[in-house]
Amino acid sequence: MSYESVIGLEAHVQLRTATKIFCRCPNQYGGEPNTHICEVCLGYPGTLPVLNHEAVDQAIRLSFALDAQVRSVSVFARKNYFYADLPRGYQISQFDRPLAEHGRLRLREHDLTVGITRLHMEEDAGKLLHESPGGGTLEDESLVDFNRCGAPLLEIVSEPDLRTAEQAADYFQSLHQILVYTGVSDANLEHGNLRIDANVSIRAIGETTLGTRTEIKNLNSFRHVAKAIDYEIQRQIAVVESGREVVQSTLTWDADRGRTHLLRTKEEAQDYRYFPEPDLPPLRVDSRRLERLRAGLPELPSARRKRFQEQYDLPAQDADTLAQTPTLADYFEAVVESTGGDGRTAANWIKTEILRVVKELKIDLTDVSSSGRLIAPDRLARLIGMVGEGFVSASAAKSVLAELWESEEPPRAVAERLGLIQERNPEQLKEWAIQVIEKHPDQAEQYRSGKKQILGFLVGKVMGLSRGKADPKQVNLLLAELLADDSHGDLAP
Ligand code: ADP
Ligand code: MG
Ligand code: ZN
Repeated sequence: MSYESVIGLEAHVQLRTATKIFCRCPNQYGGEPNTHICEVCLGYPGTLPVLNHEAVDQAIRLSFALDAQVRSVSVFARKNYFYADLPRGYQISQFDRPLAEHGRLRLREHDLTVGITRLHMEEDAGKLLHESPGGGTLEDESLVDFNRCGAPLLEIVSEPDLRTAEQAADYFQSLHQILVYTGVSDANLEHGNLRIDANVSIRAIGETTLGTRTEIKNLNSFRHVAKAIDYEIQRQIAVVESGREVVQSTLTWDADRGRTHLLRTKEEAQDYRYFPEPDLPPLRVDSRRLERLRAGLPELPSARRKRFQEQYDLPAQDADTLAQTPTLADYFEAVVESTGGDGRTAANWIKTEILRVVKELKIDLTDVSSSGRLIAPDRLARLIGMVGEGFVSASAAKSVLAELWESEEPPRAVAERLGLIQERNPEQLKEWAIQVIEKHPDQAEQYRSGKKQILGFLVGKVMGLSRGKADPKQVNLLLAELLADDSHGDLAP
């Protein structure tokens, strides 16, 4: 029997704000454990939450970036459960009236648009540590750091529209790219700014009802998403093939062992007993605010890719590469502007030469300050111009480029210093060509009697004589011209 897998993702995005969602503690990663805390985010009795509107603005911006409809009134709700990282005993979230609904996300690599069911705001919990911060295991105890308590989150729930682990990883990447473009989140995966719960089920091909799902919690990288889902699909197929049934359950991914572990089954699932949060009024957003936030959104990745293809006549693959982050996309457009509009040439240089070094130096292009580490667009543009005008060969330009990473010296000066300016004076070229013909009469004769491929040998000699400064194409033409003429001796200068 053939199966198809069905996947729906719940993404938790940590929003970029100065302070937490219901108090004025800094919303900052790291810090000494239990220093970014106060009575409100620790849930002391008698304290009241006050909604941070910067968090609401970020959540609305992301909702719009995902084409969702923002409700004019949404409601906060208490999700009640006990856990050591949640001192209040409930999480403030949204339930039946979430911030936004009915969105969609266009994937970057697959030709697929995934439905977004809902987006709701909530607060993050603290963090349990099972190793001591200085390293070393803890005997029979765990530590808890409440710094993350009350960090603002936006949860994004997708429709079960994904069919493969690769599509799910693409969704993760495409969402991450939107976070970087809009700046709604620091989008740092190592810091856990984007975490995914993956819901996975299988069904016979042709079946239209959904199978029983399992949910893998807390995946925080492209690779983990793909691997965990792939593993889970195979595990479910094996269960069904052996005549058993998939049990609805919650799992964790063990990256070291490459397998999922059971956390709890449906029978053990908590009843969160949601009810409207009595300490917060309904969240009302008026149309002026919505319009302002919508108007403030930057051009989004899919639009930019499309524009790059059309405006600069780039293949889809190149447009995708250059639009990977707003920093790189801006860089590309600045180079094109300085070169006078030749997008394809600029794209080739950036894609091959610049991105190679970016990789070597591990420059993080999702970081807005990374543009300062690239060769300034006008300097790269000048070098590209020098190749176009024939001042330096394309290969010599690569040597010049290597030096441009090191210093602020102008490209022209570097080429001169390295002796890489091409010799274009026809008299000089002719002099070298004639010298070579006279020094190699046998080869010249072979060429004349029809062995045309010998010309490469003579071109090589002229290039050597010019110490690489001649343009080989020009030399080729010149030699052919000289050798075609029987009375070459008369051509001596
Ligand atoms: P809950 O809030 O209990 O986790 P939801 O109904 O909100 O449940 O669904 C959560 C996620 O699970 C959504 O992304 C949804 O698309 C996905 N999902 C629901 N049913 C299935 C299924 N049978 N197979 C795969 N994904 C599913
Ligand atoms: Mg869930
Ligand atoms: Zn606080």
